[in-house]
Amino acid sequence: MYLPQEIIRKKRDGGALSADEIQFFVRGITDNSVSEGQIAALAMAVYFQGMSMDERVAFTLAMRDSGDVLDWKSLNLPGPVMDKHSTGGVGDVVSLMLGPMIAACGGFVPMISGRGLGHTGGTLDKFDSIPGYSTVPTNEKFREVVRDVGVAIIGQTSSLAPSDKRFYGIRDVTATVESVAMITGSILSKKLAAGLDVLAMDVKVGSGAFMPTFEKSVELAESIVAVGNGAGTLTSALLTDMNESLSPWAGNALEVRGAIDYLTGKHRPARLHEVTMSLCAEMLVLGKLAATETEARAKLQAALDSGEAAERFARMVTALGGPADLIDNMEKHLEKAPIVVPVPALEGGFAAAVDCRALGLAVVSLGGGRRRPSDAIDFAVGLTDLAELGQKIEAGQPLAMVHARTEAAAQQAVADIQSAYRIAATAPAANPIVYRTIRP
Ligand code: URA
Repeated sequence: MYLPQEIIRKKRDGGALSADEIQFFVRGITDNSVSEGQIAALAMAVYFQGMSMDERVAFTLAMRDSGDVLDWKSLNLPGPVMDKHSTGGVGDVVSLMLGPMIAACGGFVPMISGRGLGHTGGTLDKFDSIPGYSTVPTNEKFREVVRDVGVAIIGQTSSLAPSDKRFYGIRDVTATVESVAMITGSILSKKLAAGLDVLAMDVKVGSGAFMPTFEKSVELAESIVAVGNGAGTLTSALLTDMNESLSPWAGNALEVRGAIDYLTGKHRPARLHEVTMSLCAEMLVLGKLAATETEARAKLQAALDSGEAAERFARMVTALGGPADLIDNMEKHLEKAPIVVPVPALEGGFAAAVDCRALGLAVVSLGGGRRRPSDAIDFAVGLTDLAELGQKIEAGQPLAMVHARTEAAAQQAVADIQSAYRIAATAPAANPIVYRTIRP
């Protein structure tokens, strides 16, 4: 029998908590036997004292086991169960292509995705822009689509890692979110509740990243790899660039269009392609669906070229209630904004830097994200044709196109984008696309 205040005291004084103490506390978070004040106090103690890798594994497993943990064994799937998670970004539409590409290569992807957070977009919101598509299917339907199509992308349910929902809500209002130990447990408990054999983690670096510095991104990536593997899921992390939008599109329905154009081969922007291929290849190698990265990339390219990946996307959309002809008839099904205007560059030169967070916030201001959790999203709005860093631009040429609901919102976004870009006389050195891969 433990007392919450004794556990808090031990952590406050720099002690290491046992797995039993952590399980006791997390059970109390879930069943409300530990008070909000006690949770806040423990969060602050962990914020200052940290947690060893053993403590983090125990914390992650306790939070994972606070709700349902999906079990795929009874389905006898002929391949590994795998997923990817990103710390969030702008124009990061990777999940929409990665799931179908992995399915086309023999993996099974039960992807439980989240809503947009702050300036970053959310995969769940993107799928909600597809008319009829259900992001909250029954558990039976979810399992059926994963088994039959190889991929189902749905939304978080309250039965997965419920302790994290309460814990995160308290961290959010007590200035204790920024702790690598607690972020690791929060992200992994939700992902591992999906019953994964393999996880690839995309930790973003740069002006649009959740982590504030390169060093902190590395620290989080290393922590997630150690804890994921310690918890029994083969886990790698890639550190990828978020100093600019990952794709030329930011905004929900606009990103769905972009993902379809990528899958059908109409338009595969180079940076987006490289991040998608790198994450997919890492997953195929971890899941033993390819012996080497070269073999994995060849398989993935074949899945794109043959149309198999696009086909998996179409089948997933239809199976979850979306239009059967979405790929062929995007114009008919995806909402379009009434006002589309260019963002003229105020001077000529090279796109030298962009405040990527400001780009994401411009999409939120257009109505494409939420200011409050209860806000409705305008799926049609956002940005396209975003200028890439290093691109030469004449004064008056567009830095992007703004898709807006009203004239006033469009003009505000034009000003926001103009001030987000820095134009210089010389081209900047190119940022790496993948900075580093951290493996088990
Ligand atoms: N995202 C999460 O899910 N949890 C955190 O703690 C931070 C970001």
